[in-house]
Amino acid sequence: MPATVQRIARVAVPSPLRRIFDYVLPDALLPEPQTNEPVPPTAEQPLPLPGVRVRVPFGNRELTGILLEISLQTDISQQKLRPLSAILDDKPLIPLHLLKLWLWAASYYQHPVGEAMHTLLPAGLRAKETAAVKRRKSDSAIASTVSDKPLQLNAEQQSACDAIRQSRGNFNCFLLDGVTGSGKTEIYLQAIQDTLNQNRQALVLVPEISLTPQTLTRFRSRFDTPIAVMHSGLTPRRRLNAWLEAASGEAGIIIGTRSAIFTPLARPGLIILDEEHDSSFKQQDGFRYSARDLGIMRARSERIPIVLGSATPSLESLHNARSGRYQHLRLTERAGTANMPRYILVDTAQQPLQDGFSRELLDAIQAHVQRGQQALIFINRRGFAPVLQCQDCGWTAECQHCDARMTLHRHPPHLRCHHCDRREPVLRHCPSCQGKSIHAVGTGTERCELALQQRFPDIPVVRVDRDATRRKDELDRLLEQINEGQPCILVGTQMLAKGHHFPAVTLVGVLDADSGLFSADFRGQEFMAQLLIQVAGRAGRAEMPGEVMIQTRHSTHQNLQTLIHEGYHALADQLLAERKLADMPPFSHLAVIRAEAISASAPADFLLLARQTAIQLLTQSGTLNRVTISGPLPAPMEKRANRFRQQLILRSSSRSHLQNLLSALCVELEHSNNQRKVRWSVDVDPQDMI
Ligand code: ADP
Ligand code: ZN
Ligand code: ZN
Repeated sequence: MPATVQRIARVAVPSPLRRIFDYVLPDALLPEPQTNEPVPPTAEQPLPLPGVRVRVPFGNRELTGILLEISLQTDISQQKLRPLSAILDDKPLIPLHLLKLWLWAASYYQHPVGEAMHTLLPAGLRAKETAAVKRRKSDSAIASTVSDKPLQLNAEQQSACDAIRQSRGNFNCFLLDGVTGSGKTEIYLQAIQDTLNQNRQALVLVPEISLTPQTLTRFRSRFDTPIAVMHSGLTPRRRLNAWLEAASGEAGIIIGTRSAIFTPLARPGLIILDEEHDSSFKQQDGFRYSARDLGIMRARSERIPIVLGSATPSLESLHNARSGRYQHLRLTERAGTANMPRYILVDTAQQPLQDGFSRELLDAIQAHVQRGQQALIFINRRGFAPVLQCQDCGWTAECQHCDARMTLHRHPPHLRCHHCDRREPVLRHCPSCQGKSIHAVGTGTERCELALQQRFPDIPVVRVDRDATRRKDELDRLLEQINEGQPCILVGTQMLAKGHHFPAVTLVGVLDADSGLFSADFRGQEFMAQLLIQVAGRAGRAEMPGEVMIQTRHSTHQNLQTLIHEGYHALADQLLAERKLADMPPFSHLAVIRAEAISASAPADFLLLARQTAIQLLTQSGTLNRVTISGPLPAPMEKRANRFRQQLILRSSSRSHLQNLLSALCVELEHSNNQRKVRWSVDVDPQDMI
């Protein structure tokens, strides 16, 4: 190659711009050829490979980026083109297929590649550090003591396990659709064992809420391979170590939350995604990727099986399983000796409640704890009461910064907005009529706890919610107390609803099922059903039979009736039929463009521009009839944290039409002047529109 031809390095640089940056690759930075022979002048010099980190000048700073490719062409003028400052690694840190997945994700989710970089590189590698494991003594890998043996599988478990085993070394997406307590975890463990036996690694993704020491203990007591743990609560050093142990192949098992999907594996063999319906697998801000959908892409490119497990699969996954895109593995019965719990609907429309409790529920709690068992009361509201109201004039305490009511908290007494975290003292007089009859209306976890303590003074009441577990390790302490199995009453939010195995819980009470029944969101009914079944699934998981009492003012509600009498899958079928009629996902594809600003008019102005631009772009490409645009419309909570919020909804039956539009639209919007007046974002495949 003649010396005059310059090589261009194309680099992902941490920047909010939706583009890749070009630099000259100076010959002086090229690695020395690995030979002692004199090099003939015509020989090709070895070039750095995509996936190495490079240092680049950026404005008047120097940043670390990732080399994506080397090209001989650039659109940048010679004057503007600057040279790379350094090449940091001699081998790529990121394998090529993972780099491609990440680039694809940045483009599919319409996020600037550079900004998405933190999902790809742990903090410790975002500067100049060398990529090597450094351990403090206290960090040394915990030696596992294998004490747990594989269980004898039942027939359904065995055939699921066999199916997964048969596809090792090949891509296949399994939906492991098994009722709560059917022994899905045992299948994961045996499939992982099989993967380890093949000298390959398993990547296990779990929802944020369920990556507890209990989960890890279960893995550690089964396997004597090093387990790397990846989640956002780790110190940068530990996170880096875990990442490197995965990348080097030292760790046989990698367990993590959402972002662990980007962890490189030296010898990939299996991906497991537990509770696949859980919304924490979709990032809700910044780089809004779905770890589930990327997991499937990744498994395909690495030619390995992926298992999506759930007792309440998302409608998307059910639809994919039924249409044959996923292989549907069903477990219809609880493992071991446990039976499915019995459901009882308690109609609360016709009876006075005491602190939110019906007579039936209180009697049931009494009966269960008297038998030495535990009861779990589920209530999806933190605090003491959701409303503080004046009985004389009807005034209620509202947040000045949000379209929302303030929640009354008791420890210490204060009002708090759960949307912007604003706090205020509790008022003694009504600010509207000066009256004194201000009352707490409705029940939150704190009120529920207090009421139970008063009614059952001899029984410990354990409250598990975000406030009670603010201190690190507090959740683990509470879970340990519950697992000792002594009679007690648990009061908790979603934190208790998911994944846990509490053998002594035989009664589950749902204090109020109604908030979920009337959600405005298109996924509201689906989420309601998943949550109810998951909470109910905590009952009677061991030898003793379980009972689930659901309080509702709408006991004849069709969806509730279907769910309870015919089960989750019957309701899912009904909801899928509705989605089909309404042309909503999974029968169409959605994207939401959101905008917010301190000014009330700026978001709508910006989205109106977005709408016009979108229509122009669609007209130019002759695809105006392929994408439906609705809005701009105010978000269901229009004002939050002192910002006004609007949204524009784009819908299409063709993913590619929607994608083409979004890519072109984002570039236009990025350069529009209006965008400076708002904060805006694109959410592809949104979880909700709230
Ligand atoms: P899931 O993950 O489906 O909710 P788990 O894997 O937690 O269910 O299993 C529930 C309980 O059943 C656990 O206590 C587990 O040890 C037990 N179990 C699982 N498989 C078997 C089996 N084949 N025989 C006996 N007990 C089993
Ligand atoms: Zn008043
Ligand atoms: Zn607020």
